Amino acid sequence: MIILGEPNTLVSIRTKKFGEIKKKPLFRFDNNGEYRTNDANIIKKASKHFNVIDEVIIESIIPDIIIEEPEVIAIKRTCKTCGATFTNVGDFFAHAREHKRSVK
Ligand SMILES: [Zn+2]
Repeated sequence: MIILGEPNTLVSIRTKKFGEIKKKPLFRFDNNGEYRTNDANIIKKASKHFNVIDEVIIESIIPDIIIEEPEVIAIKRTCKTCGATFTNVGDFFAHAREHKRSVK
């Protein structure tokens, strides 16, 4: 469970012992104002003052849309000299250079 509150705030509990009120640190919110715990006792106490959210809910907030990597569309290039086809531009130009070289 995640308890939400003011970032870096120390939360203490007040206990009354022999008529004396004592403060006992319970937990501290992190820089994001969150405190994760599975301690039912802390959760019960904190839920009266703070918003307590289930981590499972947070996980389900993760968008269910999957953005996939753009598909690489293979551009087919055909050699004008010999008709060989290439899907890789680099290979095509290398091939074209070979022709130029053999002509000379
Ligand atoms: Zn060719």
